[in-house]
Amino acid sequence: MTTTRFAPSPTGYIHVGNLRTALFNYLITRKAGGTFILRIDDTDPERSKEEYVDAIKQDLSWLGLEWDKVERQSERLDRYVDAADKLREMGRFYECFETPVELDLKRKKQLNMGKPPVYDRGMLALSDDEKAKLRAERGNGHWRFKLDQERIEWTDGILGDISIDAASVSDPVLIRGDGQFLYTLASVVDDTDMGVTNVVRGSDHVTNTATQIQMIRALGFEPPAFAHHSLLTGPQGEALSKRLGTLALRDLREAGVQPMALLSHMARLGSSDPFEMRSTMDELVEGFDVTRFGSAPTKFDVEDLYPLTARYLNGLELSAVKDTIAEIGVPAELAETFWSVTRENITTLKDLAGWWELFRDGAEPLIDDEDREFIAQAVAMLPEGPYSKETWKAWTADVKEATGRKGKGLFMPLRKALTGQERGPDMSDVMPLLQVIRAKG
Ligand code: GLU
Repeated sequence: MTTTRFAPSPTGYIHVGNLRTALFNYLITRKAGGTFILRIDDTDPERSKEEYVDAIKQDLSWLGLEWDKVERQSERLDRYVDAADKLREMGRFYECFETPVELDLKRKKQLNMGKPPVYDRGMLALSDDEKAKLRAERGNGHWRFKLDQERIEWTDGILGDISIDAASVSDPVLIRGDGQFLYTLASVVDDTDMGVTNVVRGSDHVTNTATQIQMIRALGFEPPAFAHHSLLTGPQGEALSKRLGTLALRDLREAGVQPMALLSHMARLGSSDPFEMRSTMDELVEGFDVTRFGSAPTKFDVEDLYPLTARYLNGLELSAVKDTIAEIGVPAELAETFWSVTRENITTLKDLAGWWELFRDGAEPLIDDEDREFIAQAVAMLPEGPYSKETWKAWTADVKEATGRKGKGLFMPLRKALTGQERGPDMSDVMPLLQVIRAKG
C-alpha cells in the first residue's frame, strides 16, 4: 500500500511551489492506490494560524486534491518526546548552549579560513557539571542529533543516486531552547508512525533527507522512498521565492485560473513528457510519472496559465458551465447560443459577464465618420428583434443590394455598429443574443 503526505506549515497561504509537492504526492498515491495524508506541520505555535489551515484545505479542495486523512503535528508532541528520549538513551542526542550570535561567529570564522561552516560539536563533550552551569547561566539548551560521520546514500526517485558525506553536514537541531520540536524530528516520527512509503518534496530538502535517513535508522525503521523535485524559478530563471507571495493558489483562483488547466500544466512542467490538457483527474493520474521529471530548476510563468485556461474552457460542453451562465442572468433558452459564441472569446469565466452585458444592454456603436450615412440606412432596414441565426445573412444581403457595398466594406462597419468591436464571434450567432441594438436608436 502506498502512503504519501503533503505536509505544509500553516504559516501562510500555499502557492504554486507547494502545489507541485502536493500534486506529485497526490498523483503517486492515486495511481498506486493507497492513502494521501494532509499533514499539518504546526509545531511552531507562534507562526501557525488556524486560518491558514482552513485556507490550505480550501485551496486543495478547489483543485480536487482530496486527502484521505488529516494529521496535525501539534497533537502528536508526546510521540516526539518519546523519540527524543530514545535518541538520548542511545547517545545520539546532545544539548548545546551557544547563542545564535556565537554560532554565527563560528560560521564566519570557518568561512574566512576557507572551511565549510559545519557545526564544530563544541558542546558534545561537556561534563554534567559544565552543562548544569551553562543551563543555570543561559537557560535550557537546544538539542542536536549526533550524525554518524559516514556517507549517506539513497536512490532518489528524481535525482538518481545520491551520496552525501555526513561529515560535511552540521548535526541538526531537533529541539529549540524554548522546547519547541523542529519539523526535522517530527517528520521522521510521523513518517514512520503513519507508514509513509514515498516522500516527494522540493530539492531544498536534500540535506534534511540525508540527516533524516540516519534518524529513521537510529529509531529502528527503514526510510521511505525519497524523490526531490526541482524548485520553480521565474520565466527568466530568477528565484521565485520572493514572488511566491503573489502566486498564492487563492489569488490564481480569484483571477479565474481553471483547476484542470493549472493541474495539467503542473503535472508536466519540468518533465520530459509533453504538455497535455487533461479534463479529469483520472486522466491526470493515468498520465503521471514522477521519474520523468528532471533535476534542473523549472521555469514557471504565471502568464502561461491564462491561455491554458482559455484553451481548457473552449473545450467544455455547455453542461459544464450552465450554472455560471445562469448566474450571470442569461435566459435558459439563450444559454446554448451564448456559450457557442463566447467559448472561443474568453480567457476566464469571469469574461462571460462582460459578454452578456454587451448583448443585454447593447454595445456603444463604433461608427467611422465616412460610414455614418451607410449605417443609418442599413440600420433602418433591420427589422425589430428578436433575431435568429438567419437574420444576419438576410439583412446583409438586403443592405448589399440597397447600397452596393460588399465584402469587408459591408460587414465590418455593421459589426462595429452592432457590437462596438472590430472583431469577435460570428455575427450570425451574435444576432439572436442581441437584446438591444443601440445603433438603432
Ligand atoms: N513542513 C515541511 C515544509 O513545508 C515539510 C517538508 C516535508 O515534506 O517533509 O517544508
